Amino acid sequence: MATSSSAELSKAVKQQYMDLPQGDKVQIMYVWIDGTGEGLRCKTRTLDSEPKCIEELPEWNFDGSSTYQSEGSNSDMYLIPSAMFRDPFRKDPNKLVLCEVLKYNRKPAETNLRLTCNKVMDMVENQVPWFGMEQEYTILGTDGHPFGWPNNGFPGPQGPYYCGVGSDKAYGRDIVEAHYRACLYAGVMICGTNAEVMPAQWEFQVGPCEGISMGDHLWAARFILHRVCEDFGVVASFDPKPIPGNWNGAGCHTNFSTKEMREEGPLRSPLKGWGRGIATTSVPMTLKGDLTMPVALPATMKPPTSTSSLPVWPTAVPASASLALWARRRKATLRTAAHLPTVTRTP
Ligand SMILES: [Mg+2]
Repeated sequence: MATSSSAELSKAVKQQYMDLPQGDKVQIMYVWIDGTGEGLRCKTRTLDSEPKCIEELPEWNFDGSSTYQSEGSNSDMYLIPSAMFRDPFRKDPNKLVLCEVLKYNRKPAETNLRLTCNKVMDMVENQVPWFGMEQEYTILGTDGHPFGWPNNGFPGPQGPYYCGVGSDKAYGRDIVEAHYRACLYAGVMICGTNAEVMPAQWEFQVGPCEGISMGDHLWAARFILHRVCEDFGVVASFDPKPIPGNWNGAGCHTNFSTKEMREEGPLRSPLKGWGRGIATTSVPMTLKGDLTMPVALPATMKPPTSTSSLPVWPTAVPASASLALWARRRKATLRTAAHLPTVTRTP
């Protein structure tokens, strides 16, 4: 395990400066998905006053030739503010803003899947689609070695780690706790965490979120996780199979329901096939969001489901959303690898 040298800088000294008053000015960190479709980028600008809604945030731009998003010519890319959160690192009144990316000709960048997803969500708005996503991840040192694992060997076999407690079972809980609280502060709809089957592997859950807001909240939670890990000098990996062999993969299950599925009574086709009373269904996603299994694993291993540019993106959280309701729905979750008839993936 190796941590970055920046983690060894004195955070107490930094705090002295973060405590300085900032006057009327507000720092806005613009966040976007780069040309890999998975990497996140960010940069900050100063505004003269605190924005109250997304419409008050100006467009911005960046050099797409440095983010795998354009050639050297015509490399200007536009950042279109799409969802705003409180900044848990600089704190109020500062903001984190997730952005869509447009190319120089104002057509969507190849990795801007939010735009088309949003159109689909508008088309099915009357079905009130809800999503909840369970993001698993692995904490690594900057050398790529799982956090807390022996330098020349492996920890004990899987078994005691899932939802485990104790220094010999929970690897890196400080990061999980910091991320959880930072998400709550930001306004991200995080609804739980747990230690996973492989040591140094964890999960957080986000939801329920209606329509496009699912993506915004999941990506905000991912960004905050990367940023928290930066403070601790380690790295969060969403690799679906970070360690070869008899070690658990990391996935991102998607729970989904429509208004009809949440109501009492018989379901109409095609939902009927899932049976009466099923409140939510769940599917594993592969690295690129396909509903298939990309890697053959031993039968004892869970499928390597994953992260990626899911349909999920956002603007509004349903007023009816509550953790209690989410918990009831999750109890009724049916896990299946079947294709969802109304899954909202973009091309
Ligand atoms: Mg899990």
